[in-house]
Amino acid sequence: MRIANQGGRAVLLGRTSALDVAAASDGRFGPDPMSVYRAWPAFREWAATVDVDAAPAAQAVEVAGLDAPVPAPEQVFAIGLNYADHAKETGMALPEHPLVFTKFPSSLTGPEATVRLSGDRVDWEAELVVVVGEGGRDLPASWEAVAGLTVGQDLSDRTVQNRGDRPQFGLGKSFAGYGPTGPAVVTIDELQDGHDLGALRIGCRVSEDGGEERVLQDGTTADLVFSVPELVHRLSAVVELRPGDLIFTGTPSGVGLGRTPQEFLKAGQVLTTEIEGLGTIRQTFTA
Ligand code: ZN
Repeated sequence: MRIANQGGRAVLLGRTSALDVAAASDGRFGPDPMSVYRAWPAFREWAATVDVDAAPAAQAVEVAGLDAPVPAPEQVFAIGLNYADHAKETGMALPEHPLVFTKFPSSLTGPEATVRLSGDRVDWEAELVVVVGEGGRDLPASWEAVAGLTVGQDLSDRTVQNRGDRPQFGLGKSFAGYGPTGPAVVTIDELQDGHDLGALRIGCRVSEDGGEERVLQDGTTADLVFSVPELVHRLSAVVELRPGDLIFTGTPSGVGLGRTPQEFLKAGQVLTTEIEGLGTIRQTFTA
């Protein structure tokens, strides 16, 4: 199933339509998009019985009208240097343990948004984003705790991120709109149907003022240093994972910081990020 957020209400997406969860479940689930994760096992069971495209109440839907699928998670984890090629391009050694920081939840935004650049060194990072289902502590290295996956960008102001004696990952990556996600949370069972969960193609491309697109990143999640199950295991050994928490799992090579010459986002550019089986998000930048 695909779960999205339309105007602050949880919806199930079909091929071309959306079904309001609260209305379709007679108020058992929703309307708050966060509430479906707090009731995850029961919600999953109910949603599996729903045929969105056949439901008379289903309405036409467009990605541009959707908000962040998980708009207010209690915790947003992000993982640095989680692809070997990316670690190499930044000149850093591969971490022995996951390098964990946070994107503050107020940075989250929907799949199609206009984002104001905070400076002249703002970089792109296409990322697979994990949405936690039931959560808990000391979870095994499995997909069981994962409700689904979505597409994300870990937009990063490199000046703020790297200023001072110690890096400021949390601040440099938390400006307004620096955590676009969407278009929907795709459950693991849906994704497994036709895709290899452990090897999803991931990338992003940029265009100037509607011109031709140029590929910036093109990788596969098969190259993750710490896999999704391993991240769930390692994070939950320290922190209790809560329903609806997000984990940005790191970015493949091709970021602007690692280029010669270095390159950063400019006003007027459109950044399109795509992950196989999950869809596409698109951000337009202003100064
Ligand atoms: Zn990142």
